[in-house]
Amino acid sequence: MNAAKVLDDLKRRFPNEPEYHQAVEEVLSTIEEEYNKHPEFDKVNLIERLCIPDRVYQFRVTWMDDKGNIQTNMGYRVQHNNAIGPYKGGIRFHASVNLSILKFLAFEQTFKNSLTTLPMGGGKGGSDFSPRGKSNMEVMRFVQSFMLELWRHIGPETDVPAGDIGVGGREVGFMFGMYKKLAHEFTGTFTGKGREFGGSLIRPEATGYGNIYFLMEMLKTKGTDLKGKSCLISGSGNVAQYTAEKVLELGGKVLTMSDSDGYIFDPDGIDREKLDYIMELKNLYRGRIREYADKYGCKYVEGARPWGEKADIALPSATQNELNGDDAKKLVANGVIAVSEGANMPSTPEAIKVFQDAKILYAPGKAANAGGVSVSGLEMTQNSIKLSWSAEEVDEKLKSIMKNIHEACVQYGTEADGYVNYVKGANVAGFMKVAKAMMAQGIV
Ligand code: GLU
Repeated sequence: MNAAKVLDDLKRRFPNEPEYHQAVEEVLSTIEEEYNKHPEFDKVNLIERLCIPDRVYQFRVTWMDDKGNIQTNMGYRVQHNNAIGPYKGGIRFHASVNLSILKFLAFEQTFKNSLTTLPMGGGKGGSDFSPRGKSNMEVMRFVQSFMLELWRHIGPETDVPAGDIGVGGREVGFMFGMYKKLAHEFTGTFTGKGREFGGSLIRPEATGYGNIYFLMEMLKTKGTDLKGKSCLISGSGNVAQYTAEKVLELGGKVLTMSDSDGYIFDPDGIDREKLDYIMELKNLYRGRIREYADKYGCKYVEGARPWGEKADIALPSATQNELNGDDAKKLVANGVIAVSEGANMPSTPEAIKVFQDAKILYAPGKAANAGGVSVSGLEMTQNSIKLSWSAEEVDEKLKSIMKNIHEACVQYGTEADGYVNYVKGANVAGFMKVAKAMMAQGIV
């Protein structure tokens, strides 16, 4: 394979999809060497078959708002690759959603899911519908209409969606309810379900906890841990909240959290009580992070992200491309020792280069945030055997999965000078498993 040529072809065939190109470029540049050691891959054009999704569903969703107006949104499901298991990946509801973003997410998901060691292929879906400012009934009407199209393309052995940005327990519950009615069956077609109807314990916590378990493994390679370390967290949704919870539990200090309007900086640290306030604010009242600054009298910076603040560790947990090259330079100048991504592709390629040139610990989302989908995989297992495991059991399994992913990154990503390139490690390890499965299954 000539990575530059493959990418140029994809750009020509699928123009105006910058996020998809960005995700593919990062993977191709790191797997090229390994790929070319296997001439049998190129003989069957494995690389294009791996980069282009198996199929994409795209549909209009029509629903009625509370004032009686008829609204339209776009709905999508990208089924990227099912070589190692049913398509698996979240649904995102956000105004920014488009095909480029979902194709990048589905592509990333394929490698991430491969890394988890569980039998899951990769997919992603969503809509440009934004739940922000919508009533419960509006969200329900939208979701039911969305599901009228999606239900026929998914199933427990076909494609298993879950949550992502804008899709939490409430939205998964509504999707599951409508799916159940249309399919006339009660199956584990979604993960991230409520406890009462097949959801797994620790699923809400899993992405954030998993990121910190991964971070701890990275810190261990430097003979250190989280005690007394200050952390910058971006975001204030599910991932950010449980990242903060685990940082506190392990003796770290959380200085910042953010939302799309701005960030708060609390020099005393966001402690357990303050975190409870944020959880209530965000999950119950669906308020804005600035209200934290009003309540606790700390700094709030409108329209900015927290990367200019000084801290030991950065944990981007909001969204793609939220940390650019300049931000990365500021973090490194301020002495950051580790960056571990809770979000999907939050660092731009320029930022990644800055971290790697500075030889700090840097973990890409597809390794560090794989805990969420891992517990989704465990939820699928529990649904299949019609049993539910205790929180301790699931948490132990999550810990050991994150440890395994870290080991795989070290195995495939250690460079000549001993520096672990976690991007390369995650991409090569994730790729090899999918590639071998595709080879064994013939040209399909
Ligand atoms: N949306 C999450 C992710 O990016 C979780 C997906 C899932 O649980 O299927 O991995």
